[in-house]
Amino acid sequence: MVNNDDHSSENQNSPKSVFESSATFCMALSQLQSVASLLKIDRGILQRLSVPKRTIIVSVPVRMDDGSTRVFNGYRVQHSLTSGPSKGGLRYHQSVDLGEVAALSMWMSWKCGLMNLPFGGAKGGITCDPETLSIGEKERLTRRFTEEVLSVIGPRMDVMAPDMGTDEQTMAWIMDTYSMKVGYACPEIVTGKPVELGGCLGRREATGRGVTFCILEALKDLNISPEVATAVVQGFGNVGAITCAELSQKGVKVIAVSDRYGAIHNPSGINIAELQSFVSSGNLLKDFPEGKPINPEEMLVLPCTILVPAALERVIHLKNASQLKCKILAEAANGPTTPEADAIISKSDIYVIPDILCNAGGVTVSYFEWVQDIQQLLWSEEHINHKLYELMIKAFRRVRELALAKKISMRLAALSLGVEKIAREKIMRGLFP
Ligand code: NAD
Repeated sequence: MVNNDDHSSENQNSPKSVFESSATFCMALSQLQSVASLLKIDRGILQRLSVPKRTIIVSVPVRMDDGSTRVFNGYRVQHSLTSGPSKGGLRYHQSVDLGEVAALSMWMSWKCGLMNLPFGGAKGGITCDPETLSIGEKERLTRRFTEEVLSVIGPRMDVMAPDMGTDEQTMAWIMDTYSMKVGYACPEIVTGKPVELGGCLGRREATGRGVTFCILEALKDLNISPEVATAVVQGFGNVGAITCAELSQKGVKVIAVSDRYGAIHNPSGINIAELQSFVSSGNLLKDFPEGKPINPEEMLVLPCTILVPAALERVIHLKNASQLKCKILAEAANGPTTPEADAIISKSDIYVIPDILCNAGGVTVSYFEWVQDIQQLLWSEEHINHKLYELMIKAFRRVRELALAKKISMRLAALSLGVEKIAREKIMRGLFP
């Protein structure tokens, strides 16, 4: 794929260097470079894809409950605006930094490309520990952040959604703040908001459901029945908990689960409905009486059919990759596997469902939500789940077929399909001016 777009040699002081101190950004870049060599992407296009299109860093002052003022760092990074408005979550976590947000925005671009959605990729984040903030502090933080990034968001420009540490309530505050600014109710400014405010039925469950559809497809390929399969899930938030619930419903035995405070193990299977109600009542997952506490690192290398990282990036690395004892690695989190770990895993017979495919259910149903808001329509949950299933399985089969045909990994196949779509669109649109 070559055009005459730009043949200048790469600039030593390219904007890329701003992000390169981040291990997560370097990881995203190295994946892009592997795809570029496979697809022989034009050098100018590659340079453009290697850096986010637009980056905004804001300081967000917040009046705390005790009367003091605290200033938080906030980021919004729009990696690509080629295919439509940029789309991506907003993360509240203590480890959020510019490089991480930039990497996540790049992965969003490839994900939207792979799923054929009319969006570019974006991501946002605020460096904070949401569990230490009161509800009022979170509301003031969210509203002030929205105000600070107002000039770069919009239903046709950049649309946010929940990610780690944020939820439907966060989206409701953003929707309200934006609506107050423009002077009319504007539900299409965010997705993943409460259904009462124009949210989409099934959006909350969409990522975990999509993860489960992919796992069931992989089990079919491996000729393993769900009833004899076991799963280990890292993270028990939106994605992890729904994945556990959906897998249990299909007969898979969930034998270990963790969250940021600890992990539990029960070889006979954990009752997920009971665990969910235990945690929802304010208890810590690690105190669930039906499971024995286990070291969270050891949990990742337990023998199991399916390992589902559903929390942070880079949790499967050089040190634990060769010890994994799963048959399927279903990457529900974004970027859970480092390239070094990937090189080890690709020599094993572990069936990897790469993140940009595995967790694409979230952005797919976000797309349905955005479309409904713009058209002022309400689809039934049955219709949404059916459309989600159709799109996920179609993408899964495209990735699998390309991987088998070209004898490449599932990750390289998924990334190739995502990157190639955007590269093609860039060539067609040309370079302005
Ligand atoms: P969440 O905030 O709802 O839950 C995160 C969970 O991870 C919590 O249970 C938390 O305790 C746990 N966790 C945090 N640090 C941990 C650690 N060190 N070890 C084990 N567990 C830890 O977040 P979420 O929305 O479920 O997102 C999880 C992952 O899925 C993220 O990588 C996110 O980018 C990705 N994702 C989310 C969506 C979505 O729709 N929410 C869509 C696509 C991808």
